[in-house]
Amino acid sequence: MKYVGAHVSTSGGVFNAPINAHKIGATAFALFTKNQRQWKAKPFDSETIDKFHQNMEKFNFQPHQVLPHDSYLINLGHPEKEKREKSLNAFIDEVERCRVLGLDRLNFHPGSHLRKISEKESLDLIVESLNIVLDKTEGVSLVIENTAGQGSNLGYKFEHLAYIIDGIEDRSRIGVCLDTCHLFSSGYDIRTEKEYRKTMEKFDEVVGFEYLMGMHLNDSKVKLGSRVDRHHSLGKGEIGLEPFKLIMNDDRMENIPLILETIDPSIWDKEIELLYSFVEG
Ligand SMILES: [Zn+2]
Ligand SMILES: [Zn+2]
Repeated sequence: MKYVGAHVSTSGGVFNAPINAHKIGATAFALFTKNQRQWKAKPFDSETIDKFHQNMEKFNFQPHQVLPHDSYLINLGHPEKEKREKSLNAFIDEVERCRVLGLDRLNFHPGSHLRKISEKESLDLIVESLNIVLDKTEGVSLVIENTAGQGSNLGYKFEHLAYIIDGIEDRSRIGVCLDTCHLFSSGYDIRTEKEYRKTMEKFDEVVGFEYLMGMHLNDSKVKLGSRVDRHHSLGKGEIGLEPFKLIMNDDRMENIPLILETIDPSIWDKEIELLYSFVEG
């Protein structure tokens, strides 16, 4: 089963996310469990948690169809100890928020070296941070997203993801999310069947499909290898529709959330319909 959805709004409360997902015909969704541009949030009250569970059940969503995304402020590879600790604490809080909602995974960007330390030093700090998070929390897998490599963001190479996973003590709670726009803008071509197979083989070789716990399905406004993060609606950017047809017929993407982060929410229902129309047989 392919689970397809979008990063939906939680305006009015997190319990609105399953409703918003259902409205666009989604079988998966992503959400922020707090304001993504603020450090702090009040813990959920029991009424909010109950309503979230009720709506998950009402609209037939299981935890593995949901891919929460962490705050954009968090940088687990921050070169400054104090700022890194602030990120670490905020991240632990986000894991806890996912757990109380009954969710089983949290998607995050690895971090940035901010040109103050080397890539390797920053990757080592990310590993250190993640091991602390895994030690202090339970029940939620940490899902590292590949990035476009804009600025000093790490995670634009499969080797970065593999390096992080390699340093994790409890690998039962670590996963990976592949973003198609980020793949393309970081230089991994997926536009034709041949290039798609090559890129996915490389991913399997370096990281391993056993870690794939979600995908972000986005087209790209920028060209191959631009290292700039600019999403576009499916088929309207530089990537085209071919890889999305391949993904919808690829068994390695079964039973994980496939999430649109495309730029026009008013056509998400059409994009979901389009993706399902690609499924053969
Ligand atoms: Zn993404
Ligand atoms: Zn992006």
